[in-house]
Amino acid sequence: MKVPFVDLKAQYGSIKSDIDAAIATILDNAAFIGGQAVATFESAFAAFVGSRHCIGVANGTDALTLALRGLDIGVGDEVVTVANSFIASSEAISNAGATPVFVDCAADTYNIDVSRLAAAITPRTRAIVPVHLYGRPADMTAIMAIAREHDLKVVEDCAQAHGASLDGRMVGTFGDAACFSFYPGKNLGAYGDAGAVVTTDAELARRVRMTANHGRMSKYDHEFEGVNSRLDGLQAAILTVKLRHLESWTEARRRVAARYTANLAGSGLPLPSDPAGGRHVYHLFVIRLQERDRVQAALTEAGIATGIHYPIALPNLTAYARLGHQAQDFPVASAYQDQVLSLPMYPELADDQIDYVCDRLLAVL
Ligand SMILES: *Cc1c(COP(=O)(O)O)cnc(C)c1O
Repeated sequence: MKVPFVDLKAQYGSIKSDIDAAIATILDNAAFIGGQAVATFESAFAAFVGSRHCIGVANGTDALTLALRGLDIGVGDEVVTVANSFIASSEAISNAGATPVFVDCAADTYNIDVSRLAAAITPRTRAIVPVHLYGRPADMTAIMAIAREHDLKVVEDCAQAHGASLDGRMVGTFGDAACFSFYPGKNLGAYGDAGAVVTTDAELARRVRMTANHGRMSKYDHEFEGVNSRLDGLQAAILTVKLRHLESWTEARRRVAARYTANLAGSGLPLPSDPAGGRHVYHLFVIRLQERDRVQAALTEAGIATGIHYPIALPNLTAYARLGHQAQDFPVASAYQDQVLSLPMYPELADDQIDYVCDRLLAVL
């Protein structure tokens, strides 16, 4: 049996007629940049998150950079984020002109270790970028308390966590701003690059929208220099169709996770789960193994595609050699980079495929 890591074709097949019609409408109207389709998606997505403003942008990395710039964070400022994430979380901090400061992840949640957060704060610290990694909400109650105490802004990286929640409140509604990626493989994925910033702050929303569109609101009246980072009409139309299915896809991901959990319960493997009062949306289903590379090779041999998120913790990347970190400065993230393994995870994954993955995994252990 072949089990792919994700299957974007299966999802397109299930919504093909609606997607094709939405694309045809954009082509017929030649509404490629801006226009009604973008405005429609922005208001639908703001409503989904439970926030007031949504600004569609070109990708999730730009969303983070634009939110930080919109909060006037830049040269000379430090921004704290987590050692275990995709590089975009810290890259956006550098792109805004500021310096990323890493905090190790917690051993049980993979998210930023809030017990180490205060020690990373200096007089230059302006903001925290918590990441809801793998779809599991970070501890926003503790993070917001520390942010308030130190007068810091919070920009949530929700790129892997569309629809995740804590105590009935969606991620993306806790911080000053929140950033989403609609990269095709994300829980809500476009058919190309796309992203969004959401916020309840009207002035911040205005600054982000202007910065993403050459520093303007009206055609040639540029109040400052920005960038070109707009959501295009085709992606917006596709995302509007797909957003209607997101809740059922999230429930399907949670069913996949529950079946993995039931099948692997006796294995002694550390398995992901919901935080107390929270909802994990399983962008990824990540386990840890001492002999990760051997197990991954055996699964590949059995036709099962897996992933590693991420093989090099952010402070250990060549890209951050300038910061002079040692792997032992981030003991959890540095150990986990050699242990984490992401099992196949997508809404259309069938029960017999899940059972096959678990059987092979238990056999090679
Ligand atoms: C995907 C991702 C991003 C960046 O999104 P892009 O749309 O690919 O630019 C940011 N943060 C995290 C945690 C991600 O997984």
